[in-house]
Amino acid sequence: MDMISSQNVTILVGEERKPVRIQKDILTARCAHFQGLYRNDMHGTQEDTFEWLDEDPDVVDLFVEWVHAQRIGALESDLNVHRYTKAYMLADELCMPQFQNAIMDQLRRPFRTTAVNPGHLAWLEQHAICCLQLHAYFLDQLVYEIHHSTSCYKDGVVRMVDGTEKPTPVKAGLEVLMGKQRNLAMKLFWRVQAFDKVNSQDPSMLEGCHYHVHDEGETCDTRSSKK
Ligand SMILES: [Zn+2]
Repeated sequence: MDMISSQNVTILVGEERKPVRIQKDILTARCAHFQGLYRNDMHGTQEDTFEWLDEDPDVVDLFVEWVHAQRIGALESDLNVHRYTKAYMLADELCMPQFQNAIMDQLRRPFRTTAVNPGHLAWLEQHAICCLQLHAYFLDQLVYEIHHSTSCYKDGVVRMVDGTEKPTPVKAGLEVLMGKQRNLAMKLFWRVQAFDKVNSQDPSMLEGCHYHVHDEGETCDTRSSKK
């Protein structure tokens, strides 16, 4: 580690190859993937430019934010769920469990007040073979919501406090999932069937290490006290 200089690493992001520069010593301290790449590079001979042409710049912005500050902005609306989901997949590829857990905590927030669109789960099932904790969260949240916000999924409307109804795309999302992803549809069917309405908690309201990635016996608290 001592031999790693404070020079920059450049990552070219997306089709436009937007250059993102990060100080190498910060990057290797925060990201196990880059730490592994540079571990044996005593003479600085390793390449310092990487191409992430399949990544979206706004997803990589979250990665840069985390690397510099070890925190990410709050996710207040479900409009950004896809962006945070993709950042979660990137964190998984780069072996950054704490970044994943920070994203997980944010991903739960919008679903305290909004029904989850089955499209998020369907997309994750199609695109990520990993990300098991996030997959489990979306599935649990969807099963919970189907029982507690049934009209959203059945009629495609949300009943407001004042009694009016507002259209929501979650019914269409459920129809696509049921029509196109048979394995996932079956998984969902049996989970809904086995749901324990009395003893279940809303997954979006859970605090702490639920759906986090940790080694056996580790929690966020034991991890931070080890520092
Ligand atoms: Zn945790």
